[in-house]
Amino acid sequence: MRKPFIAGNWKMNTNSASAVALAAGLARQLAGVETIDVAVCPPFLYLQSVAAALSASNIALGAQDVYFEGNGAFTGEVSVEMLKDCCCSYAIIGHSERRHVLGETDALINKKIAAAIAGGLLPIFCVGELLEDREAGKTTQVVADQVKKGLDGLCPERVQAVTIAYEPVWAIGTGRTATPAQAQEVHAMIRSLLEKLYGKDIARALRIQYGGSAKPSNTAELMSQPDVDGLLVGGASLKVEDFAAMVKAIA
Ligand code: PEP
Repeated sequence: MRKPFIAGNWKMNTNSASAVALAAGLARQLAGVETIDVAVCPPFLYLQSVAAALSASNIALGAQDVYFEGNGAFTGEVSVEMLKDCCCSYAIIGHSERRHVLGETDALINKKIAAAIAGGLLPIFCVGELLEDREAGKTTQVVADQVKKGLDGLCPERVQAVTIAYEPVWAIGTGRTATPAQAQEVHAMIRSLLEKLYGKDIARALRIQYGGSAKPSNTAELMSQPDVDGLLVGGASLKVEDFAAMVKAIA
């Protein structure tokens, strides 16, 4: 049985005080929740203070990105080791904003995923089609291609560290959520692709989150789908009440 996993992606939001207040509020609200894995991904700058606010909680810490090199002349980048040093367990990799706003390629994403796993950081690997892809009937092709390229070269043992987040780009931050059936269709496709690539056991064990305007009011119906194992949440993760309500709805 896959343990549900919900992660909050705070993106470029909060400040030093509000990040800690959000984390502390969640720690209070979610004390004792154990049937589901919960993580928050604050901006890099606030990782350490959020880690301190979460230290007595079950809420894990994640970063919103990571670089694949270990150290050196890579101005502005942050390594796996640095993130581990700041108590991170997870890193979001390949988020659509990094792919489409900042121009990240599948090849770069693949290197980041490999480096994260090698260094002991669990990737939340994002894939998802643009609206024009969906309208052209290319959703399966685009998402399958992203999955294959992102995981290229990883042996089955390493792939087990990955959570895949299916995030249709047209649903992110737009208020337009994929229907539960649309999400299930793509999740099932990803799982059958994983089975072809890595075998039944790994495909059954790997968690696939849905992301894209998930909120308290649609959490239960999204999570009712057999291949939806959790959520990656942007906007609704910035309010203690909303994110806590989603966690509790799943738990
Ligand atoms: C995201 O950024 O991963 C996301 C899903 O955002 P939102 O929930 O705001 O659509």
